[in-house]
Amino acid sequence: MQQVRANTILGRYIMYCPFCGAHDTKVIDSRLGTEGDQVRRRRECIECGERFTTFETAELMLPRLIKQDGTRQPFDEEKLRAGMLRALEKRPVGMDLLEAAIARIKHRLRATGEREISSRTLGELVIEELRGLDEVAYIRFASVYRRFQDINEFRDEIDRLAKQVENNK
Ligand SMILES: [Zn+2]
Repeated sequence: MQQVRANTILGRYIMYCPFCGAHDTKVIDSRLGTEGDQVRRRRECIECGERFTTFETAELMLPRLIKQDGTRQPFDEEKLRAGMLRALEKRPVGMDLLEAAIARIKHRLRATGEREISSRTLGELVIEELRGLDEVAYIRFASVYRRFQDINEFRDEIDRLAKQVENNK
């Protein structure tokens, strides 16, 4: 089995075929390494048809997000954490559980092997994780997020609702 380490240039993978040097290779299988920080990919050269395996650093593999309006944004872990914390406000869920949920979300994003995913897909992953953490946080997030489909808009809406609750006291 031929093993090749992928070269990165400005965070983009430039994958040359080790047999003929062609740039055009296609991924035929993609899976996370046991440590979770590497992606093992089976590739096939479009030019010569040879197959080889690469080990790529998973840290660089987090896909960009395609927003509702079609614009692209890099994955932002802080934004994700802030959105989830907002949903978990005053709920009995420890930070260790939240961090584990974030790690699982990142793991699943990497495992897709995609360069870009819709922000909606990320939102659904968050909803799934919150469902396992806390029923109230899950309902808060799901009800608001499914309407807004964007974590930033969601945060604004939660802030507004929180103010409303304060004012009605
Ligand atoms: Zn080739």
